[in-house]
Amino acid sequence: MKLNQSEREVIDLIHNSNGISRKALSEATGLSQASITNVTKSLVQQNYILEGERVGNGLGRKEVQLYPNPMRFKFLGIDIGGFRLRLAIANNNLEILYEREHLIKEINEEEDIMEGLVRRIDNFLKDVNVPVEDLDAIGVGVTGIVDNEQRRIVNIPNLDRWNDLPISEVFGERYKATVYLDESGRTMALAEKLRGKASTYQNFAVVHLAFGIVAGIMVNGQPVRGMNNVGGLLGHIMADESAGQCLCGNYGCLELIATYPMFEENYEKLGGKESSIVEAYQLNDKTALNVCMTAGNAIGVALSSVVNLFNPEALLLGGPVFEKFPLVFDEMKRTLLMRANRFATVGMKFEKSSFGDREGLMGALAMANTQFISKHFNS
Ligand SMILES: [Zn+2]
Repeated sequence: MKLNQSEREVIDLIHNSNGISRKALSEATGLSQASITNVTKSLVQQNYILEGERVGNGLGRKEVQLYPNPMRFKFLGIDIGGFRLRLAIANNNLEILYEREHLIKEINEEEDIMEGLVRRIDNFLKDVNVPVEDLDAIGVGVTGIVDNEQRRIVNIPNLDRWNDLPISEVFGERYKATVYLDESGRTMALAEKLRGKASTYQNFAVVHLAFGIVAGIMVNGQPVRGMNNVGGLLGHIMADESAGQCLCGNYGCLELIATYPMFEENYEKLGGKESSIVEAYQLNDKTALNVCMTAGNAIGVALSSVVNLFNPEALLLGGPVFEKFPLVFDEMKRTLLMRANRFATVGMKFEKSSFGDREGLMGALAMANTQFISKHFNS
């Protein structure tokens, strides 16, 4: 279905809102109420959108809210993290219908990584009873570097066997759906912009601290990508040269200090006595608190550079590191406010990211949804 520019604007607005009235659409697009009535009538007839309840706004008349038809399209989201592979099927409203996860470790034991991925996806689709024909698009987010055409995984710094994987080609052929691939920091930023807390921000960064460090930076509403799709690789900027060699080949990367497994490792290295740093942290163990202070400081220093370079309106922060060790957050914030330019941080917000553990999965789904909708209504 081919729509003109303003009709496309209408469908995008409906897709990226939680209910919007014809009047609000007219105000947002500058189209007359009569044109909006025509466009939305045709979209309702074709089952792309649904009419919902009437919502009043003060004294004015109550307006019917329009929604995307949740049943109209189905998406498969694939989040390839450093620790977990997550799979989900979502409807057109990005509500997750089915979900599954596997450990990356388990896939690493496979002779052929692509084959291992495909088999797990096949089994998932079979078990949840979603035939391949029902999939409209697939979104894949990966904590690594993708090629310029966004079709292949070029490299995952922490996983040495995940080089040069033809994701889009293999998944596209097997599942007969368009495949969208990107680095997961950028997909997370997209999910925050379209469905999360960043809907009103043009400049913000998402930082997810888990098995690895994932960051997505939006500038003027566009994700920072750079020439070779490496823009935003926060985990591998140099934090402390004496921290040793990183799996990426470089020395002193932030990931040697501030990822979840490194907390455990650094705790043991410093002679921690408890069985885990999480346990030690809860007992106010000095070694555990020191590890957290060092990491929080390193993240704060790194993020102060991000703040000085991009001057974001907000930092959206999440992942198990912040959840398990609140001290890391406090120390990160304190360091950042001290180190970043003081004019850059005036009014800047520190917020928890929107989707918790599912940040990467929502990123993959949001990318599939928005790109698919845009393509579908343009051809
Ligand atoms: Zn590195």
